[in-house]
Amino acid sequence: MSATKQTTLTIDFKKLKQNFEFLKSKLQPNTKVLAVVKAFAYGSDAEEVAKELQELNVDYFAVAYTNEGVALRKAGIHKPILVLHPQPINFKEIIDNCLEPSLYSFRVLNDFVKVAERLNQKNYPVHIKFNTGLNRLGFIAKDVKAITQKTNQASPIKVTSIFSHLAASEDSKELEFTKKQINQFKEIRQNFNQLSNHKPFAHLCNTSGILNYPKAHLDMVRTGIGLYGFGNDAKFNKELQPIASLTSVISQIHTLQVGDSLGYNRAYIANKITKTATIPIGHADGIGRQYGNGLGSIIINNQKAAIIGNVCMDMIMVDITHINCNEGDEVVIYNGIFTASEFSKSVTSISYEIITATSQRIKRVFYR
Ligand SMILES: *Cc1c(COP(=O)(O)O)cnc(C)c1O
Repeated sequence: MSATKQTTLTIDFKKLKQNFEFLKSKLQPNTKVLAVVKAFAYGSDAEEVAKELQELNVDYFAVAYTNEGVALRKAGIHKPILVLHPQPINFKEIIDNCLEPSLYSFRVLNDFVKVAERLNQKNYPVHIKFNTGLNRLGFIAKDVKAITQKTNQASPIKVTSIFSHLAASEDSKELEFTKKQINQFKEIRQNFNQLSNHKPFAHLCNTSGILNYPKAHLDMVRTGIGLYGFGNDAKFNKELQPIASLTSVISQIHTLQVGDSLGYNRAYIANKITKTATIPIGHADGIGRQYGNGLGSIIINNQKAAIIGNVCMDMIMVDITHINCNEGDEVVIYNGIFTASEFSKSVTSISYEIITATSQRIKRVFYR
């Protein structure tokens, strides 16, 4: 066990590379890979992770919001960056930073063309997003004619790609729905290519789409969670390994007598002599209040220690009555063995939520 002296997120670039290579091994050799590094690369560190993936020759990056893309450009990322969810107010900044917008409605398409024209752009790369069943963002199939009428005329922009997003690619119970989405998107692509004066590339699959729907990989895939080590199914646990471990330390140990209370609002009352450890990580760091009162637990000396009482902003208290440990000892919130996915299951959450919640004030350490 490494000696953690304060709450630390350790990010293992060897595992990132292994995950990237495993995902690539699932693709045809000419299928492009887009790495999704939104939300600080799922709570790790977008700049460091993107630099590493750029070295590994990834083809594209995606972020959700414009400011995330600007930060990557400032960090020296020169590969194309797709901004998945921009607003018209961001369009000038997008162009100023050579970011590529997802255009998901006529409102944003028309607005982007105007801004690109005003800034004297020619063939500025844009991506057209289609809604095939997620009903979150995107044009619909019958918009293709009007979109291509617009984009064929609009010389300030050029449609680099068209894409859609699967709603339930990790869920085998939704096989039929997913196949319908895939077929619908393939029809959109065919129609678009017929009506457009050039042929954009097409992409649809997220991580679970890559793993579960090999016939839907098309020209490019978009992977986020897989790079960070989660395949949304235990059968991928050997090949995909979590890149991040969250560890902390025991700040102080207390012994509660019967009837003593613990923490805010006295949510825990000892009914036996109880040894507790106070850990410097709280809801401001991503451990939500739902993990309190016995639901979540952390690992000390390979044993589970339940989080008791209410989660505080900067601290949790755990029950160590049954564990032989000392102040200053390392504790594990999650790592490659006790995974973030398992940790999050205790409160019916998912790996995505717990890892992206990791606050920016937690120290990051990179392991190469
Ligand atoms: C976040 C996101 C992804 C990545 O999904 P994973 O399940 O993490 O691989 C891909 N595409 C879009 C549109 C997204 O918003």
